[in-house]
Amino acid sequence: MDKLIYQKNLVVKPRYEISNWKGVRGRQEPTMTLMSNELVPESNIYLEVGWIYEMPAPNPHIHEHKHENYNEIVLHIGGDPRNPEDLGAEIEFSVDGEPLTFDKTSALFIPAGVNHGPVIWKKVTKPHLQMAIVLGAGNMIEADPGGHKEELL
Ligand SMILES: [Zn+2]
Repeated sequence: MDKLIYQKNLVVKPRYEISNWKGVRGRQEPTMTLMSNELVPESNIYLEVGWIYEMPAPNPHIHEHKHENYNEIVLHIGGDPRNPEDLGAEIEFSVDGEPLTFDKTSALFIPAGVNHGPVIWKKVTKPHLQMAIVLGAGNMIEADPGGHKEELL
């Protein structure tokens, strides 16, 4: 093969563009954007991920918001490889006013147009990852993963 066709699809250098959580303690800030149209043209996916390593403050710092045109998947992934289903935290994540509480590694599907948040940490015992994937949104402004568009503009 004389040409690498898919090399351009491999993102090894994140963009650090989500800096809504400046001053929030206990979490990686800014988070790492690993997929967007800026990183992989025409991917039409927005994916950002960051570590939470102690009780965030302020808590909540992700407030109620919605993505009018895009479905979202929010993953919370425990950081203990010996017990990968254990989140190492307890989180209350409200969807359309319904509080969902979990302490396991999880994926949550949020349909377009449905309000979600606040996200409230009840406890943190181990570092864990929080990942948001906004399907069909190609950039941060379209994706607005934490509902911070007003703070960005
Ligand atoms: Zn969201």
